[in-house]
Amino acid sequence: MAGPGWGLPRLDGFILTERLGSGTYATVYKAYAKKDTREVVAIKCVAKKSLNKASVENLLTEIEILKGIRHPHIVQLKDFQWDNDNIYLIMEFCAGGDLSRFIHTRRILPEKVARVFMQQLASALQFLHERNISHLDLKPQNILLSSLERPHLKLADFGFAQHMSPWDEKHVLRGSPLYMAPEMVCRRQYDARVDLWSVGVILYEALFGQPPFASRSFSELEEKIRSNRLIELPLRPQLSLDCRDLLQRLLERDPSRRISFQDFFAHPWVDLEHMPSGESLAQAVRRLMEIGKGGLIADPPIPQTALVVEAVKKDQEGDAAAALSLYCKALDFFVPALHYEVDAKRKEAIKAKVGQYVSRAEELKAIVSSSNQALLRQGTTVQELLREMARDKPRLLAALEVASAAMAKEEETGKERDALDLYQHSLGELLLLLAAEAPGRRRELLHTEVQNLMARAEYLKEQIKIKESHWEAESLDKEGLSESVRSSCTLQ
Ligand code: ADP
Ligand code: MG
Repeated sequence: MAGPGWGLPRLDGFILTERLGSGTYATVYKAYAKKDTREVVAIKCVAKKSLNKASVENLLTEIEILKGIRHPHIVQLKDFQWDNDNIYLIMEFCAGGDLSRFIHTRRILPEKVARVFMQQLASALQFLHERNISHLDLKPQNILLSSLERPHLKLADFGFAQHMSPWDEKHVLRGSPLYMAPEMVCRRQYDARVDLWSVGVILYEALFGQPPFASRSFSELEEKIRSNRLIELPLRPQLSLDCRDLLQRLLERDPSRRISFQDFFAHPWVDLEHMPSGESLAQAVRRLMEIGKGGLIADPPIPQTALVVEAVKKDQEGDAAAALSLYCKALDFFVPALHYEVDAKRKEAIKAKVGQYVSRAEELKAIVSSSNQALLRQGTTVQELLREMARDKPRLLAALEVASAAMAKEEETGKERDALDLYQHSLGELLLLLAAEAPGRRRELLHTEVQNLMARAEYLKEQIKIKESHWEAESLDKEGLSESVRSSCTLQ
């Protein structure tokens, strides 16, 4: 009965795999095209019953329009299908998770990074605005990242909300009021301008770590939404005046006094006209790297170089796991150096090295990961045995429960940090229990289990580091090089 696809919807031409996430109306799965291309896509399943009655038909027409839309910062809708219960949207797959996750793993984003993202979001909104399409459900969870290596923002989940009332049949608000414009929550009368409010909330959250109406209780939240007070901006971190001005004008409660779309696109902090395109940025980086090869750059001093030499040696010997962890240790030195190095040419040289190590580390990761899958299966057997032997030990059972939750989390894309937290939590408990355990079979198993989990946690840590190093190098491009990008573009 329980075949491999058990519990997953079936869809012509695709093999559905893991669940990527679910939002207010839908569940999204990763899938492969059965065609030889084996193209990876994301398939969003929307239950027809969550739609307003009359709108299924309209919706299908609208989807046809959305299918024609192509923009670098909008998730592409490739195709759609439907059956009695669901509508299936076949979309471009975004491997980098969503903006909410991205912000919260970093706590806050530096103004320069937030600005690049804001420009990308604004260019998507401008494109939609010109075509008379509003989003109406803008929030960090609906903004995806193409990949963590080269994060480009992709707006998702648009052109939909107008078919779905923000209130369900029982007049309960769907979705999160944290991002909804006050007029949407209070007056139930709203138009495209709610999107500008939401942009303000997203920017606020990116810069300060939480949305302006973050509250501890519902009544507190309600009070904040209904109040007429000006939205106050925290004094820290320090931000440019332009940035503060934009926030204040987006977060204007009265839609008629809120910044207009045109003024938003032209605002000096957004400055869409001078937004560096992906192309020119990449070109400029390449050019700068060429200069770096001129032999002007000395190698960085000893410890990191030694680590790399050792990593290369292990790599040649075929010990992928050891090589991977040495590369990761080396990254520990190189990535901070990216920030501290003041000489532009040296900085570029280091960046090139980081790029090299990260790409090799990624290849190694793929190799290690397949042998890890085998280990993971072995680990499950040990865990099952141990669970049998722990029936009378609730504390041990609970810790094992956390460990298997960690393993499940690890299977989800973009959830590495959560998985690591769970591993660390269960390891803390298991180590204490191991210390108290009398010698015997159970102790042996417990010992093996702890070792397995530690190995997995280490592996995860490395994965996270690879991703983040890549991101750091990337964001540095955007921060540090944008000036050179501009000058090199105007020189041409
Ligand atoms: P809903 O309409 O239910 O809010 P979304 O389109 O926002 O559905 O998708 C829900 C979640 O699924 C997103 O927050 C994201 O984590 C994941 N997801 C959606 N689309 C994609 C995609 N194209 N690639 C990768 N993950 C996606
Ligand atoms: Mg959503």
